[in-house]
This record gives sequence, structure tokens and C-alpha cells, in this order.
Amino acid sequence: MELDDIRNILPLFLRHSNAAVAIKDLDGSYLFGNSAFERFAGAAPGGVVGACDADLLSPERARRAAEAEREILTSGRAVSESETFVSRGETICFQVARFPIFGEHERHVAIGVIAVECLPRTDNVVDAERALKQAQEANAQLRSAIFTLEELASTDRLTNAWNRRRFEETIEGETHRSARYGHPLSMLLIDVDHFKRVNDEFGHREGDRVLVAISSLIRAIMRKSDSLTRWGGEEFIVLMPNTGLGRAQATARRICETVADSEIEGIGRLTVSVGVAEYLPSETSDEWIERADRAMYLAKEGGRNRVEADARRALTQNHIEHLEGNFVQLVWKDMFCSGHPLIDGQHRDLFARANELLDAMLSGRPRDEILLTIEHLLFDVGKHFRDEEWILGALEFGHLDGHRQEHARLMTRCHALVGEFEAGIVPIGELFEFLAHELVTRHILGTDREYFDLIRHSAVSLPLPE
Ligand code: GH3
Ligand code: MG
Ligand code: MG
Repeated sequence: MELDDIRNILPLFLRHSNAAVAIKDLDGSYLFGNSAFERFAGAAPGGVVGACDADLLSPERARRAAEAEREILTSGRAVSESETFVSRGETICFQVARFPIFGEHERHVAIGVIAVECLPRTDNVVDAERALKQAQEANAQLRSAIFTLEELASTDRLTNAWNRRRFEETIEGETHRSARYGHPLSMLLIDVDHFKRVNDEFGHREGDRVLVAISSLIRAIMRKSDSLTRWGGEEFIVLMPNTGLGRAQATARRICETVADSEIEGIGRLTVSVGVAEYLPSETSDEWIERADRAMYLAKEGGRNRVEADARRALTQNHIEHLEGNFVQLVWKDMFCSGHPLIDGQHRDLFARANELLDAMLSGRPRDEILLTIEHLLFDVGKHFRDEEWILGALEFGHLDGHRQEHARLMTRCHALVGEFEAGIVPIGELFEFLAHELVTRHILGTDREYFDLIRHSAVSLPLPE
């Protein structure tokens, strides 16, 4: 929250208050004081902000204020008391309520002061209640004002995109998560081409309108989990969690094409150049941004209206990218049928389960959800192995022992990998590669074919387990 924001916004909320109202920073200096408060504190107009009680009040009043504030900060509750002092030879009595102001997560962010003048001999209880009630109302207003301030302080006012501060706060958490769990993370650095010409030709205001229009075009293409940051004048960053380089490039190309194809009213068409980089766990966020920036400059040098990517990828990502290319879906084909309805139905279900998992991974579903999908898959695999062994036993399949051993080996490996994935040792890409390649593809589409002939040529009716 910026001091300026507070000065600009609080008067809007407190303009109509007759009570003396002030807000103090936790360091004791005033952030805001309305004109009634200036009278209460005996300060010159504009003399409250930046001053402390010691600068404004008598030593005794300052001491009592400090005591009340200590109590507020430890108890989290408002303190109300009457304060009598002499000003210009006159005895003046105020009922003063001091109260904590909370920001996000119940964090103390400031102290509020409300003072209402009262006659020296009036019923203090009534005044105290009135002051407290006012304090509570003001606190509710201030709370919402502070939320607004926090929001304002973290977004760019022109485009409503995140500002650098918010981005820098977020990127640390994202890179940490990416390195820890092997989730891919990418960014796009987007710079409007020849933007200076827009300003020169149409004026700065029109230039601003263009920035708003382009940020909307970008937003319409981003996913919900992506964020848009105004990085500089006409530069934007799209941060893309759970996204590898390949997907990020595809999004960048869509943004490029969409901007180039969109007519901006009164201006015409503009283009953007985009640099793409995937986060490498070994680098700092600054180094990562620098790679995106260099890629963006290559796009400029290459003629603008284009995408360039820094080719480096996080190691764990190779698996997923590879799978993305080859395994958009595991597609069931009739030629995979053994002829046994139960086995074929189960094989088909395993394909569907693996596809579900792939979907969950590629769309960046939460870890818990992915684990649940894996659990379902493993449960089905276990049941299928048992049924298949029973059927093959009933058919007196010659390689049953070998087949059983292979099942056991696959299950052991599966459980070990899932455990390692849960513990964060193995990235999801590796786990999926095993499930999709070893289990589904190699086993079902490979080893299992050894008994297909037996089923097809079986003269007896096909056996079914209970
Ligand atoms: P290039 O294709 O190489 O990126 O050319 P360019 O003209 O876009 O790049 P340059 O960096 O030379 O100019 C960027 C211009 O963006 C200069 C600056 O006046 C303008 N600009 C920066 N911030 C704002 C803003 O908030 N509003 C407006 N209207 N213009 C801005
Ligand atoms: Mg620029
Ligand atoms: Mg530019």
C-alpha cells in the first residue's frame, strides 16, 4: 500500500465524517488525518501526515495514546477513553476511540483514531458507545478501503494487468513450485511493434487505448491459470504455470496472429513480437526473464510480428513434451481386441484411464486430483491383472507363469514410482511415461498379444471369472 494511495483514497470514504479521523502507520507516524483531526491534534492544516504524537500532542496526551496503542496491538481490540485538555484557555473534552485496522489475512496494517468532541460533564458511557460504534463503522469502511488499496497497489491502472510488484511476488512462488515438483513453467514476453509510431501519429491518449485493447486481446487467449503483467511501457509478460515450452510457443503464436488480425478502432492493425522461455530449475527468475527478453529481441531482429523461443527446456519436461507430441490420446483400435469381451473391455477402460491422467497432467490439474486419477488407474490395473490371470489359467495358457511375473513386476514398479512421485522425487512426466508406455502400450499392446491366438482359436466357450 502506498502512502499516496491512502492520501488519495481515504478522503473519498471519510469526506462526510464530522468526527476527527486519523490513520497511523505502525511506526507511529500519521498516514492520514481529516480536518477535524487537525483541530483535535492542534495541528496546522496539512500538518498531521508524517508527524507523530510526540510532535503534535502534549507529552501526557502522547503518553496515553502510546499506552492505548500498545493495548490495541496486543489485544486486537478497540480502546475508547475520554481525553480532556486545555486549548487556548478552554477546557475541551473528546471521547477518543483507537482501534486496529486489519488488512489481508487479519494482519495489522495500521491504527485508526476517531475522536468526537463532547461536553465535559456529559454521560461518558453514552459517548463511549457512540465513539466505539463510529469506530466500528469506520473500521469496516477502512477495511474495504485497504482491500481496494492493496488491489490498486498490485495492478496497472491503465490495463488492469498485474504490475511488476505483484509479478515479482508471484514469480518466486511459481519458480519454487516448478523446481520442487517438476511442474513446467513458461513465460511469454510480448512487445508491441513500432508502438512509438502510434503515439507519434495518434497521440499518447490513443496510444494508451491501444495498450488496453492489446491487453484484452492477450487476455482472451490466455488460460485462467495464466497471469498477465504490464512489464514496461508497451511490454507485457504472460506467466504460464504447468506449461512447457511447446504449449507456450503455441499460445504465443496465437497471440501474435490474433493481434495482427485484429482491427483496433481508429488506429488500424498492429503487431507484436514475442519471446518465449521455459523456466529451468537451475536459474534465477532474473536469468529466466533475460532469456525471454533475448528471444523477444531475436523476434524483433527477425522482422517483428513473430515468435522466438529460447530452446532450453527443463529436463523433466522432455517427457511431457514428447508425450504431448505422440500421445494426444491413446486411441483404441479394433485390432487391439483379443476376442475375450472381459479382457477387451478392461483394456479399453485402461486406455480411458490413461487418457484421463494425461488430460489431468496436461491441463495442469492440482496434484491431489492427479494422484486420485493415478489411484483409479492402479486399482483398475490390479483388478484387470487378476482377472486376466484367472482367464489365462482356465485356458491353460502355456506362458502363464512368465505373464504373471511380468504383471507382478509392473505392479511393483508402479507402486514404487507412485510413492516416489508422492514424495516429490520423481516428476509426473516420468510416472506417466511408465504408465502409458510400459503398462498400457508395451504390455497390453505387446506382451498380451501372445495369448490372443489362444483366445481366438479357443474351441470352448470363453471362461469368465466370478
Ligand atoms: P519496437 O518495434 O522496436 O518495439 O519499436 P517501438 O516503437 O515499439 O519501441 P520503443 O521502445 O522505441 O518505443 C516504445 C514507446 O512506447 C515509447 C514510449 O513513449 C511508449 N510508451 C511507453 N509507455 C507508454 C504508455 O503508458 N502509454 C503510451 N501511450 N505510450 C507509452
Ligand atoms: Mg519496448
Ligand atoms: Mg515496442
